[in-house]
Amino acid sequence: MSCFIGKYADELIKTAKYIATPGKGILAADESTGTIGKRLASINVENIESNRQALRELLFTSPGALEYLSGVILFEETLYQKTRDGKPFVDVLTENNVIPGIKVDKGIVELAGTNGETTTQGLDSLGARCQQYYKAGARFAKWRAVLKIGATEPSELAIQQNAQGLARYAIICQENGLVPIVEPEILTDGTHDINKCAAATETVLAAVYKALNDHHVLLEGTLLKPNMVTPGSDSPKVAPEVIAECTVTALRRTVPAAVPGIVFLSGGQSEEEATLNLNAMNKLEVLKPWTLSFSFGRALQQSTIKKWAGKKENVPAAQAPFLARCKANSEATLGKYGGAAPADAAASESLHVKDYKY
Ligand code: 13P
Repeated sequence: MSCFIGKYADELIKTAKYIATPGKGILAADESTGTIGKRLASINVENIESNRQALRELLFTSPGALEYLSGVILFEETLYQKTRDGKPFVDVLTENNVIPGIKVDKGIVELAGTNGETTTQGLDSLGARCQQYYKAGARFAKWRAVLKIGATEPSELAIQQNAQGLARYAIICQENGLVPIVEPEILTDGTHDINKCAAATETVLAAVYKALNDHHVLLEGTLLKPNMVTPGSDSPKVAPEVIAECTVTALRRTVPAAVPGIVFLSGGQSEEEATLNLNAMNKLEVLKPWTLSFSFGRALQQSTIKKWAGKKENVPAAQAPFLARCKANSEATLGKYGGAAPADAAASESLHVKDYKY
């Protein structure tokens, strides 16, 4: 037996396939309390539970937006929160055919003796937490592993540690009914060119799929959340068509056809850039055995957070750019985005943060 077929196998396959429905994608709204605090600080809003709840309610109740989403990733606090009228967020999502997901990692720590490379924590008691999250309505999970590109990075140690961590996390999720989103994010930080990113992405993904196989993970019940293949943040930019070609090539070389969907992170790209790159990938005329979609955090929320500024009276105006971005990215999953999402100055702003923590 190469993969583990447990009691949730059929459900895992069905959930992963649904999340990968073409035309739909994921909103990553799982910023930890520290990370959301930085977003709130950027609009001078205090990082207290009521403000975090208000932002999430604004997103989840945006008229029309949920039809473009198949999943939303939540932070633990948000999984148990309700709207101001007392309706659990989980019900708001599921009633609109959007599956609630949960961030289950506990952040990254440095690997001693490396040049700032990291591994992800959170395996202890993960099975028990997954059981609780399943009871609360979550049906998929996210675990973010972080790698970086440098003169000698990613090192073999970082590649292996992160691949093993992702695989162990993935099988624990599957034992407990949650579809694991496998996220080996290679940061864009650096002056490297796109070819270096392509090579690192291939090496990392090959190691990740070897580890998933070693751990008996049922690939049909997983999703991959990778970085797009781009030049480093301190290098000149290239056209979306070049990013599309390099990214799809790296994925075709390493991601098995059994994986139903690949949902990209935005990784500091501007809202518009992320959409144009996704669109260009879906326009490429090569065999792509998986759905190529989005699981964006910053690239779905930036304009909205700015417009909201923490004020109740701004909620409808702030929901408009969120709907526009969801619709634009939905079109991009079909290669049909015309580049005409109502533009906001914020939509073209780079969202890159060095050494990004989620
Ligand atoms: P960004 O789209 O902001 O990179 O975040 C997505 C995410 O969930 C990272 O783990």
